[in-house]
Amino acid sequence: MKTISEMIDGYRRFRAGTYAQQAALYRSLGEGQSPAIMLIACADSRAEPSDIFAAAPGQLFVVRNVANLVPPYMPDGKLHGVSSALEYAVNVLQVQHIVVMGHGGCGGVQASLAGDGNPAIGEFVTHWVSLLDEARQRVLESGSINPQFSLELEGIETSLQNLMTFPFVRKRVEEGSLELHGAWFAIKHGELHWRNPKTGRFEVIEP
Ligand SMILES: [Zn+2]
Repeated sequence: MKTISEMIDGYRRFRAGTYAQQAALYRSLGEGQSPAIMLIACADSRAEPSDIFAAAPGQLFVVRNVANLVPPYMPDGKLHGVSSALEYAVNVLQVQHIVVMGHGGCGGVQASLAGDGNPAIGEFVTHWVSLLDEARQRVLESGSINPQFSLELEGIETSLQNLMTFPFVRKRVEEGSLELHGAWFAIKHGELHWRNPKTGRFEVIEP
């Protein structure tokens, strides 16, 4: 898909195929949504949440951004897209799970590892991925042989920790009505790794 006309053709195939098969579902979703799961994923075009989880419309409340990052709670009057989506998902939709999903070969993680010295990255990405600074430091100090992969996983930890700085998230986690999860997707092999909450290690899910 390279052109808008190909995109419009895709829409027509959607209407004739998926939409036609799910017309009743779409009609009922027109009345409202009640997803139980919020997913925070990367904007990367290769890690498509609804494909990876074979999710139907209405099942996943998805926020995508560079490197699947959640900033810490900052009630500073500035504009916060991720925090708004989080607030809506937790307080209004009352989701029961939040999954932070990273992926292999993440350009945002690469940008963090490249540091501030790369003019090709630009001002917004550089600033955004500074959310990974502490995690990057940990990875570099650990002497990891694969800092990219290590930081992809550490970045998920950072987002999970930042989620807990939101009072409305912490409250629901502590009362047991909300669970936080980490996942990582290997694009090349289509392999999903799931964070074991007891050990913090990522384990391959048997396909
Ligand atoms: Zn990415």
